Amino acid sequence: MNTLFVQPDQLSTDTALFRGCTPRDTRVILAEYKSEFTLVPFHKQRLTLVFSAMRHFAEELRGAGFTVDYFACCDDLTSAFKSTRLREIRMMESADWGACGRYRIAAEAAGIAVEVVHNDMFINARLDQPVTLVRGKATRMEVFYRKLRAATGMLMDGPEPAGGAWNFDKENRNPPMKGLESPPIPRYAPDGITRKVMADVNEHFPDAFGRLDAFHWPVSRRDAQDFYDNFLQWRFPLFGDYQDAMVAGNVALFHSLISAHINIGLLDPDAVCRQAESHFRRGRVLLNAAEGFIRQIVGWREFVRELYRANMPGYDESNRLEADLPLPGVYWHGQTRMNCMAEAVAPVIHQGLNHHIQRLMVTGNFGLLTGVRPQALNEWYWLAYIDAWHWVVTPNVIGMATFADGGLMASKPYAGSANYINKMSNYCKHCPYDPKQILGEKACPFNALYWDFLARNKGLLFRNPRMALSYKNLDRKTRDELNDIRKKADSIRLASVNDAL
Ligand code: SF4
Repeated sequence: MNTLFVQPDQLSTDTALFRGCTPRDTRVILAEYKSEFTLVPFHKQRLTLVFSAMRHFAEELRGAGFTVDYFACCDDLTSAFKSTRLREIRMMESADWGACGRYRIAAEAAGIAVEVVHNDMFINARLDQPVTLVRGKATRMEVFYRKLRAATGMLMDGPEPAGGAWNFDKENRNPPMKGLESPPIPRYAPDGITRKVMADVNEHFPDAFGRLDAFHWPVSRRDAQDFYDNFLQWRFPLFGDYQDAMVAGNVALFHSLISAHINIGLLDPDAVCRQAESHFRRGRVLLNAAEGFIRQIVGWREFVRELYRANMPGYDESNRLEADLPLPGVYWHGQTRMNCMAEAVAPVIHQGLNHHIQRLMVTGNFGLLTGVRPQALNEWYWLAYIDAWHWVVTPNVIGMATFADGGLMASKPYAGSANYINKMSNYCKHCPYDPKQILGEKACPFNALYWDFLARNKGLLFRNPRMALSYKNLDRKTRDELNDIRKKADSIRLASVNDAL
């Protein structure tokens, strides 16, 4: 008899864990181990999605003929393991640092011998010769991405990238035109299993973040595929053009919103990309959409996984810019006159949702410029988003958003003034702050913070060739101007922690 322990983000039988197993000779253990879900006060919708997907997966397994032991809202995993009377069990490496070790300790305390197999839920992990990164060595996504494209043949014409270029990023940056609308996002009404999970989450996780009333995510493999098919048909064609655009009241725009489902195994990253490529090959979408989408998975998703693997443990403690501000209250309640922050935080509270530019250039940028301690911001990203796992948020926050790793991941800090947000969104049109002003009552907080960030970190950053233009512009400011900017930035920082922006 094979005995398998399936972790909450490994909900697929198409993995190394199940290799060589048939339903008749396999017993599967699943557990909602509460201590793993209270590491931080995770969003109620994230908890609901994961637990409901686990319970639906258990049903899927039972339907296929597997024997399943399921432990819901489990306080004591060792006792749960003991109750199975098993002598040995197989697990798969976890994507999050340390999770597999904690499950293993609980199993071994119950007298169960544990075998751990390689995690092959990532595209790179399935290659005969995976692309590897070196701990502590700066690496760029683009280099990794090209290697993985070539190794997988994804969007390749023989040895050449489709369309003669690897990256069509410049064609992914259209600002939103006036009146830009996107097709509706399908909603999946909670079934009996999900409604029970929602009740369990409210009862067992009273400190969890966010609201649960608007839960409408797909929770089964079939619905997740339906959700993705809907994206391919209706939103994918304009995804490439408006990938970086932000529109008030429309958090999804043309994004697929499937990252949460890939991250728990309901959708397979390779199959998702092959399906997207097939749409391009059949002329249903342009290359800037197909390449832009595949870059998010074959590029960014796989890259951050390898960067995390290479640099953990310790990477999450990086703080190269020595930022030490506590996390401002706006991240928790979204109440602020800064329209971009209000627009970004509201859908997080309601649905655990933002697209990548809201995360990077609004909430991330605000944290970087005010000088929020990277670990506080990382914790918020980990608990607040529907798709968040430690392996994926940590490089995105520590490396990308806050430059806390000193440039291991990004070639420069993603610091932006109101200029960027004003260009890529319609937020500023409805904001009491003026995106053109640096000083004065009505000045957009991002502006003084931006120039002050450059000034404060000049010693570390001015030699960076990608920062040359920014520092040339900073050098044009007089000493008096810089003094005024410093005072203004200090007052904004104080106001941000006092909830007065
Ligand atoms: Fe955000 Fe500033 Fe624009 Fe207001 S003016 S929406 S605070 S960037």
